[in-house]
Amino acid sequence: MTAPIYWLNGRIRPAAEAVLPLNDHGLLYGDGVFEGIRFYHRRPFRLTAHLERLEASARALLLELPYDRAALERAVTETIAAFDGSDGYLRLVATRGAGTLGLDPAGCAAPNLFLIADRVAVVGAGRRETGIELITASTRRPGPTVLDPRIKSLNYLNNILAKLEARRAGADEALLLNQHGYLTEGTAENLFLARGAILYTPPVSDGALDGITRAVVLELCAREGIEACERSLTPYDLYTADECFLCGTGAELIPVRAADGRPLTAAPGPLYRRLETAFRALIDEESTR
Ligand code: PMP
Repeated sequence: MTAPIYWLNGRIRPAAEAVLPLNDHGLLYGDGVFEGIRFYHRRPFRLTAHLERLEASARALLLELPYDRAALERAVTETIAAFDGSDGYLRLVATRGAGTLGLDPAGCAAPNLFLIADRVAVVGAGRRETGIELITASTRRPGPTVLDPRIKSLNYLNNILAKLEARRAGADEALLLNQHGYLTEGTAENLFLARGAILYTPPVSDGALDGITRAVVLELCAREGIEACERSLTPYDLYTADECFLCGTGAELIPVRAADGRPLTAAPGPLYRRLETAFRALIDEESTR
């Protein structure tokens, strides 16, 4: 087992020293932002997009990141270099910092920023071949009138409740609907459905994170000549889809074989297979040039 690497406030530290105060508002209130970034061949995949999203999330919360873009890039490079493995996953977190026991961030001294490099397995290896089973969760994804889902904040309780519901139902993963009953995304993945030769994904404005892997899939569709469009989708679209897959940094691309106990016609389907192959080729292309 390779040991995780911890980078905290400026340098790599042994696990025992990679600690934050108990009164950090990231812990007390989920007041903070984060990114999950994969690295392949020791190179972070789509780092600029991740840092742009982190900066946007922080800006939306008026959380001033303690490092500029170049310093964040250096922190990422250092953490990957210290990790014993060429492929892995980075968690980059900025918290509001230590403060008083009230939720006003004005009482917080300075944000804390840390990185963890480790391995991650969102699904068991075999699941990529057989496909996973989904449920639609009773927990809804809050819309932009509640908390804009484009902010990648430390508040993941809706997603955690949905994940618990999936596990208790014997399924692998849950999809969250928005307040109007439209599909949004999985607990940590964006959603694609295929009907015939066309792929559909919910618009981010229906309540999904503006996923970086989702954007990569849309790019690959353009390259591969696969028609793909954003459209509001309901459980009916899911139940009658020819294919369904989820995508995310941790998940990469995962085919879905059943939803709410209804088998899908083809998992992993032909579009999934084409995109999975193109995705692996893109990773190699970007991380070895
Ligand atoms: N939705 C949610 C709620 C997520 O947490 C994630 C993982 N970051 C995704 C979608 C997938 O986004 P990305 O491809 O940028 O990792």
